[in-house]
Amino acid sequence: MKNIGVIGFGTMGSGIVQVCVEAGYVVKAVEQEEAFFERGLKQINKNWKRAVEKGKITEGQVEEYQSRLVTSTNWQDLATVDCVIEAVNENMELKKEIFKRLDKIVGAETLIVSNTSGLSITEMASVLEDPSRVMGFHFFNPVPVMKLVELIRGYDTTEATYEKSKTLVESLGKQAIDVKEAPLFAVNRILVPMINEAIFVLQEGIASAEDIDTGMKLGANHPIGPLALADLIGLDTLLFVQDSLYEETQDSKYRAAPLLRKLVRAGHLGRKTGRGFYEY
Ligand code: NAD
Repeated sequence: MKNIGVIGFGTMGSGIVQVCVEAGYVVKAVEQEEAFFERGLKQINKNWKRAVEKGKITEGQVEEYQSRLVTSTNWQDLATVDCVIEAVNENMELKKEIFKRLDKIVGAETLIVSNTSGLSITEMASVLEDPSRVMGFHFFNPVPVMKLVELIRGYDTTEATYEKSKTLVESLGKQAIDVKEAPLFAVNRILVPMINEAIFVLQEGIASAEDIDTGMKLGANHPIGPLALADLIGLDTLLFVQDSLYEETQDSKYRAAPLLRKLVRAGHLGRKTGRGFYEY
């Protein structure tokens, strides 16, 4: 594999493009409008500038990276890629549209990947002529920093597609883990209910927010407490994810903590609104 296409240049797409370029691939990034590349490119160039200042890479290397990063609004530029990763908004209908469009453009051997954080790979793949070549790559934010990628197979994904995917992800310097398709996959299936449980502990008056976070940092060796992490993620996002887990499984153990719902209704969404479990 030499050429990678990435559709969507937002938070995740631009990070995926950066790591692919750094790993030596020629990357074609596609957005809806040329102007939508601006923010991501600024961030990537800032990251590279910092790496030069720290002596990790040279100016020449940055120029070489930039020469392998092609931005475009023309989907035909994806015709020759060996793998295409979609990182558009988390919306099943949009992702199916993208896959249908891709099916008519890319070659028969091209690996087709979604970076969804929880939608069904099987459902997305169902719109393709050949669903066996579809995989989910669940990267974590920020992509250049986070080492993990969850590899998710759809119902019809073949072993060959899985092996090709694993090789690709490892070539990006990431650690892949093999995860069956399931609501929230593996990492968030554990993480999100843990945060929700911390909110129950607070709501029931068992411990204060500060003591819950100190407890998990010093007692479980977590780098950040669950309530501080909730504020960082955004309480609206967290509630949406917890509710989707409950809806999909219909298992009452996944019901969202009422305090979480109340804070969202109050508009206290965490860091982004200046108030959540803590004030900022
Ligand atoms: P984002 O809103 O930052 O970026 C989405 C980008 O897709 C936007 O720039 C938008 O213009 C572009 N886009 C939409 N429709 C398009 C089209 N038809 N053609 C080309 N580009 C199009 O979103 P994000 O946070 O980067 O999330 C992208 C995906 O990654 C989602 O599926 C999300 O669930 C998943 N994800 C996000 C995170 C996270 O922490 N943000 C973590 C893991 C996975």
